[in-house]
Amino acid sequence: MYDKCAFIKHCVDNAKTLSEPLWHLFACVLNSFSNGEDLFDYYSQNYPGYNPLATKKKFKNASKYNVSCKTISNYFADCAKCKYKKGEKYDR
Ligand SMILES: [Zn+2]
Repeated sequence: MYDKCAFIKHCVDNAKTLSEPLWHLFACVLNSFSNGEDLFDYYSQNYPGYNPLATKKKFKNASKYNVSCKTISNYFADCAKCKYKKGEKYDR
């Protein structure tokens, strides 16, 4: 996953400085993974001002959104080149 989607890689590599809208998208993407909540919590800990409860809340809220690389490419240009761009479901 990390290798396939430029956005995931970007979020992981830039967890310390990631903007709020991108965190939200990251949470949306991770909702399609069975261990997504753990991953989201894990990477959120790199963020200054990390708060476990707020992180849980954010992840739950993101589950309402169906996000693919196509959506993400509106915010993050590199996802226009991703193989997930067509709106395919992310591999788990
Ligand atoms: Zn992507």
